[in-house]
Amino acid sequence: MAAHQPGLAERLESVRGRIVDAAREAGRDAEAITTVVVTKFHPAVLVRELHELGVRDFGESRHQEAQPKIAQLADLDATWHFVGQLQSKKAKQVREYAQVLHSVDRQSLVDALAGAQARQVFIQLNLTDDPQRGGVAPAELDALADRVAATQGLELLGLMAVAPLGGRPREAFETVRELSERLRLRHPTASSLSMGMSGDFREAILEGATHLRVGTAITGNRPAHG
Ligand SMILES: *Cc1c(COP(=O)(O)O)cnc(C)c1O
Repeated sequence: MAAHQPGLAERLESVRGRIVDAAREAGRDAEAITTVVVTKFHPAVLVRELHELGVRDFGESRHQEAQPKIAQLADLDATWHFVGQLQSKKAKQVREYAQVLHSVDRQSLVDALAGAQARQVFIQLNLTDDPQRGGVAPAELDALADRVAATQGLELLGLMAVAPLGGRPREAFETVRELSERLRLRHPTASSLSMGMSGDFREAILEGATHLRVGTAITGNRPAHG
């Protein structure tokens, strides 16, 4: 007989258990941590299964995939998070279907996101020296945060980051936490931290993450894509 393959419900339960354990280790309340399940490359039916299992926060990273998928799921009571790199010329369309935007990293994009409907925004930090990576350099954070705060329809929630490949995630998340403490001197309500993925959410919780973005640990491997 084939070895037992854990299914979606078991993977979700397992991740939830590990989040509770990490929160306890950090002396934090796991209820105060939002897990965004990243469903990129997966079909709408998987989102429905997750919804039946109680998931309400979903993340997508590519506009051309997210837009039709979320349209098929309009009947669900769900919050959609856009976590991928965002083109300014697509900004207006993305803000139509995503209530939370995790990857805001430049002034032109902030301006393009202005609008009547309220949207929540994370500023993405670039923790590498490579400007090709998404995110704003820490030196430019204050100016960008001021711009978000002054823009119609946008509420600054806090900071988002991806731990650099090959680095130590705990150190990267510690840097984000320190920058967040500094940011809060200017913007006291911008206290949320979007950090932690399948491989490093424990470290992120230990450094204060309020929003985890977890894909494969819950969904299983992403279907092949071109
Ligand atoms: C895909 C993605 C995730 C989830 O990654 P996993 O390693 O599958 O958990 C989180 N954040 C961003 C920005 C992503 O693009």
